[in-house]
Amino acid sequence: MTFTLKKSTAAFAEAKRYIPGGVNSPVRSFRGVGGTPPFIAKAAGSRIYDIDGNAYIDYVGSWGPMILGHAHPEVLGELKEALERGTSYGAPTLLETELARLIIEAVPSVELIRFVNSGTEATMSALRLARAYTKRNKIVKFAGCYHGHHDSLLVKAGSGATTLGVPDSPGVPSTIAGNTLTVEYNDDEELAAVFEQHGEDIAAVIIEPVPGNMGLVLPRPGYLEKVRAITEQYGALLIFDEVMSGFRVAYGGAQEVYKITPDLTCLGKVIGGGLPAAAYGGRQEIMEMIAPAGPVYQAGTLSGNPLAMAAGLATLRLLSQTEDFYEKVITMTAALCAGIQAQALAYGFNFQFHQAGTMFGLFFSDKTVYDYNSAKQSDVAAFNIFFHAMLAEGVYLAPSQFEAAFMSGAHTHADIGATIAASGNAFAKVAEYYRQQKH
Ligand SMILES: *Cc1c(COP(=O)(O)O)cnc(C)c1O
Repeated sequence: MTFTLKKSTAAFAEAKRYIPGGVNSPVRSFRGVGGTPPFIAKAAGSRIYDIDGNAYIDYVGSWGPMILGHAHPEVLGELKEALERGTSYGAPTLLETELARLIIEAVPSVELIRFVNSGTEATMSALRLARAYTKRNKIVKFAGCYHGHHDSLLVKAGSGATTLGVPDSPGVPSTIAGNTLTVEYNDDEELAAVFEQHGEDIAAVIIEPVPGNMGLVLPRPGYLEKVRAITEQYGALLIFDEVMSGFRVAYGGAQEVYKITPDLTCLGKVIGGGLPAAAYGGRQEIMEMIAPAGPVYQAGTLSGNPLAMAAGLATLRLLSQTEDFYEKVITMTAALCAGIQAQALAYGFNFQFHQAGTMFGLFFSDKTVYDYNSAKQSDVAAFNIFFHAMLAEGVYLAPSQFEAAFMSGAHTHADIGATIAASGNAFAKVAEYYRQQKH
């Protein structure tokens, strides 16, 4: 059967009549790689299925949440039971307390936690709290780290360490962006220089401890320790944005792996089990400033929604109670990366493979990638050829060189074998592209 996206192409055109760009989140539009996004009809286990009848082995996992695989029967079971009890009450439930307790047990730096609906809300609220707690206005973020789409964090790198941020999007007031300082990830000297100049005004440093939004980048040994030390030295809060890495690189997140205690942590993705839920939490003394315990206002009509809490609870219970869950999925991830890397090397491609727990990434670059600048050196045109070849082979990767990939507990050895074989064919197309380039 030949691969076609005929129905998806028509659906995309129709969607564009009603929805800007045809999608409700920009990266889904395939703008980075070109072509038509498959419109998805259903998902189960390691597979997603589009309306054209194509099946794909899925390494996007709804951008991270689906760590147990799609439509996990136990998660669906809990959800169905919750559904029978009604979908939302706007009043406290036992589910919220139970999920809060499970997260606090998993992530010891979190002593109190507040649920919200998206990662964006979590980081936005954490920043407000940090500013209220420290009575300072400036924040530091890292180029290439994504924390959601609210004004303070939609800011690009300036041209140097001490350059104040300029907005990344029209509509973000420069008065807000101007309070955001951006430095390169993995560069502790640039961070120190920023603190030297602005230290007394910096409320918080917000960081993806293992960045997954510029492709997957890993912290250099000792780097996160330095970030922790300098924030402490200047009395700024350290906010770990673990919306992606939480319950992904390990059950306790990156802070468990790297043994760092942040002041505040943002979570999302996995903790909602595929439904909209996110959270921020941290030291009791700081979190008690949140209304109604304290004066910092933050609220949400659907926050702690019973369906989202039920899916999150079922997910976290399975993650913590399945014997060696992480060990197994991490081993599978390593096997997949090694297999794809061997295929690349067979064509003489010395590409960069990164893995952090159940996340992995591949940069089409022969140079070490450790920050946004080095990530941007990747050959995007070659990635795009690889991406489309994989899609046609039935492997669904994120439609951008600058996104991470996600393994789940539902992926089988057969899936991995098929993916490695597909990558060999896809690299052949990349090799062909390079040959044409030379002529
Ligand atoms: C996905 C993500 C967010 C934003 O979460 P949304 O639920 O999409 O708003 C924030 N931070 C990180 C690190 C993320 O990966």
